[in-house]
Amino acid sequence: EPQIVWLRQDLRLEDQAALAAAAEAGPVVPVYVLDDDAPGAWAMGGASRWWLHHSLAALDAALHARGARLILRRGACVDVLAGLAEELGTRAIHAIRHYEPWWQAAEQALAERLDLCLHDGNQLAPPATITTGAGKPFRIYTPFWRALQQHMPPPAPLPAPRTLAAPARWPKSDRLAAWALLPTKPNWAKGFDWTPGEAAAHEALEAFVEAAGDYGEHRNLPAEQGTSRLSPHLHFGEISPARVWHQVAKAQRDAGTFLGELGWRDFTQGIIRQFPDYADKNGRPAFDALPWRKAPAELRAWQQGRTGYPIVDAGMRQLWTLGWMHNRVRMITASFLVKHLLIDWRAGERWFWDCLVDADYGNNSVNWQWIAGSGVDANMFSRIMAPLGQSEKFAAGDYIRRWVPELKDLPDAAIHDPDAQGCRPADYPAKIVDHREARARALAAYRRVKA
Ligand code: FAD
Repeated sequence: EPQIVWLRQDLRLEDQAALAAAAEAGPVVPVYVLDDDAPGAWAMGGASRWWLHHSLAALDAALHARGARLILRRGACVDVLAGLAEELGTRAIHAIRHYEPWWQAAEQALAERLDLCLHDGNQLAPPATITTGAGKPFRIYTPFWRALQQHMPPPAPLPAPRTLAAPARWPKSDRLAAWALLPTKPNWAKGFDWTPGEAAAHEALEAFVEAAGDYGEHRNLPAEQGTSRLSPHLHFGEISPARVWHQVAKAQRDAGTFLGELGWRDFTQGIIRQFPDYADKNGRPAFDALPWRKAPAELRAWQQGRTGYPIVDAGMRQLWTLGWMHNRVRMITASFLVKHLLIDWRAGERWFWDCLVDADYGNNSVNWQWIAGSGVDANMFSRIMAPLGQSEKFAAGDYIRRWVPELKDLPDAAIHDPDAQGCRPADYPAKIVDHREARARALAAYRRVKA
């Protein structure tokens, strides 16, 4: 009996529990369904579609090398999969568990129509297994991480199947090009210097492991490539977190800091499992009363990297050009939007969702709510980051010169705050808000939440 493998954010052959189980059971039919309705407002954004296109192409090539192929279908995923099963005369379908609310709903609906076999493998440990002594899921990262480490190491990665038995007849597939996932005009992705796909994910991990050793020291410096840049590969599941864990733990004397960051990824899945609408709803209901400003011109200035704060503008332009932003700068730009501009965190979350190649429902919402202080974890609202101080502290000069060409000739002494030094070039905007006034305004607004 043919075995359907339903692929989503697990576009890999190695350590792919659903594929491995299907391959043991019979001929394999791997399928990807493009469903833009199930996620509702959280349908994949532009940058993610770019990545998806290339990742699917790479996966199809890897499957061909093993005598298989990738079937592409479009539409409501549960109906499409049930229809495909009928065409194939099978009920057997395998998938790796996903925790986005629309995937949870689809898994439930599908299990009523087919023999759905769900597997773990997209987290270091299945979220349901990491609980407090009382058996409750965690809301705070630190105790979560402590508990997760008790379950480490993760199981050794499953090897990629060498060959895959083909069904008697391959079902029809859409053409990838017909999905129009790539931008046409203008081609805003021309600066994306990424290679999606499983092979490239392994190369990126290899390069990181070889270069690393001082991750803890360099990861906060945006001018350096001190982090792994694995986030889009991990989001699309081109490499499993267990594989990353094992390779990093083996190679690095001080792997703890990096593995702790990887642990954040597991943590966010635990949060959206408990709070499915976390991307839309304040974790702390008191924040519903926060008087957010409607300031479309300022939101646009932030999006376009024209706030007059060099570190903020560099980050937002890196995001637009690369589809990715350094973590430290994500924190600075997010804090700036929420606190300096007092604009609802959901507007920033949205923009990131559309622009990031690693846009991830759990990671994006949990990090935005963490910065905003509205989350169920820590309340950080009154910790207002000073963008100019951060820029200096983390030596962002070269980063700014790279992403804000108007400032490329300024020396270190002036680059973080050209206004104050009286050397702001005419083509670079003045600050759209004053730091001290913005800070006072944010704290006043916040007092209304607490009142
Ligand atoms: P590394 O430092 O090499 O870390 C390795 C991996 O650990 C990352 O690839 C990622 O999978 C995971 N990780 C690291 N930091 C975090 C974190 N804070 N939360 C969750 N996972 C983490 N990350 C996303 O993958 N998708 C998002 O949509 C996303 N949105 C964010 C929004 C804001 C406002 C902030 C502050 C952070 C966001 N992050 C998001 C987390 C983090 O910035 C990125 O994961 C990281 O910058 C990716 O670069 P890297 O792979 O080089 O990270």
